[in-house]
Amino acid sequence: MHVLDYAQDVQSVLENKTSFSGMTEDLLKRINDHQSLNVFLSINPNVRSEAKHIEELDSAEASLKGMTIAVKDNISVIGMPMTCGSKMLEHFHPMYDATIIQRLKQQGAIILGKVNMDEFAMGSSGETSYFGPTDHPQFPGYVPGGSSSGSAVSVAAGLCHASLGSDTGGSVRQPAAFCGIYGFKPSYGRISRYGLTAFASSLDQIGIFSGDVPTMGLVFDAISGHDQYDSTSSELPPVSSYQKIINSPNLDSLTLAILPEQELTGLDKEVRRVYDDVLMKLSRHGVTFIHQTIPGSKAWIPTYYILATAEASSNLARFDGVRFGWRDQTSSDMTTATRSSGFGAEVKRRIMLGTYVLSSGYYDAYYLKAQKARRAIVNGYTSIFSTADALLLPTTAGLPFKRGEKKDPLEMYLSDYFTVSSNIAGVPAISFPAGLSSEGFPIGMQLQTGLMNDESLLAITQSIAQVL
Ligand code: GLN
Repeated sequence: MHVLDYAQDVQSVLENKTSFSGMTEDLLKRINDHQSLNVFLSINPNVRSEAKHIEELDSAEASLKGMTIAVKDNISVIGMPMTCGSKMLEHFHPMYDATIIQRLKQQGAIILGKVNMDEFAMGSSGETSYFGPTDHPQFPGYVPGGSSSGSAVSVAAGLCHASLGSDTGGSVRQPAAFCGIYGFKPSYGRISRYGLTAFASSLDQIGIFSGDVPTMGLVFDAISGHDQYDSTSSELPPVSSYQKIINSPNLDSLTLAILPEQELTGLDKEVRRVYDDVLMKLSRHGVTFIHQTIPGSKAWIPTYYILATAEASSNLARFDGVRFGWRDQTSSDMTTATRSSGFGAEVKRRIMLGTYVLSSGYYDAYYLKAQKARRAIVNGYTSIFSTADALLLPTTAGLPFKRGEKKDPLEMYLSDYFTVSSNIAGVPAISFPAGLSSEGFPIGMQLQTGLMNDESLLAITQSIAQVL
């Protein structure tokens, strides 16, 4: 693995060993040399002049000076295409910067380009993109996870310092785990979604990938905070996690909740070994563990797939051949022709499922029931965090798998078991690299905390990272 170290690179610039422009030039070459991974869908055409301009910024006023960033291709960046991994938006150019992109630029970050993803962020393997699958950075032919496949691989392959993804049910944490890096989904509302193409608006949250926790904190602090263009964004002030991360808490002051044994029976044995190892190491450092029963965990996956598809069927109605992107005029019914040829199979499946659960005869049986289950899941989380600082659990039950291996959509959906509940409840969650399988596949573990406790979550992750 060759993950970039932002703090070290800033130091090299201070010592005049390189410049931010020089670094950017090296990365463009590296990206070009790694085309077989199928990560970048477009490169920022102004990246060189932007990197030059950044050299002039006062570091005291630019907390991300020279940090190179890759952006998932469902987030608007002016002057670049935004495809969402779909034929539907192949030639679409958004007219404005997402709020987070504006904030990154203000803080001196360098946007390198847009990266590959499962079509409209639906998937867990990076295989559903219209532009072809993304490869695993270390194991060719294996999936890097998804849907933010390109965002994870760009950091893991050392093509940028950090990247942005979106996490509706695990799409930042799961690929981070498969690629051996950090992937963070903040509390719902902590980061503006203005400029993110909606999949399931009540679950979607923009997340961050990085190779270390302090870099994660820097990016989070720069992009969090209220945005007048996103009515769901929190009124709380922007997060200031960096100092907390640097002064991370002593492990012996921590109480972590863990899942009851019956929730872990489906774990791959290598994941189980790493999970047990982490528990053992942390106990040796004085962490107190409490077993928590999680009422309603059986409802996590059904609740997620009902709410997510219902919201997707409504959000994706705007892609009709009139307003955005692709138009198919081969039939007199232009809308049907456009949607039939513009969307891939997985997206169509979700739109049909979502339309079904919202239809008048089935609304009460599915959608309404899922809303009630959501309330119960939120209450379950509240009770966990009344006694524990955080919940520790695996990110995924299994290891990265071979491309094409999971053919049954249901099997793919079930693999999101450990990630969807935090989106349903809106609580923050992070995946951290915790170990390797005997063959060297990365294995990630996950931490979750109470709503709006994002700073503590990052600080606890740093304490754990230092002893693993
Ligand atoms: N794998 C989940 C899905 O396909 C999560 C996707 C996401 O978080 N964007 O719905």
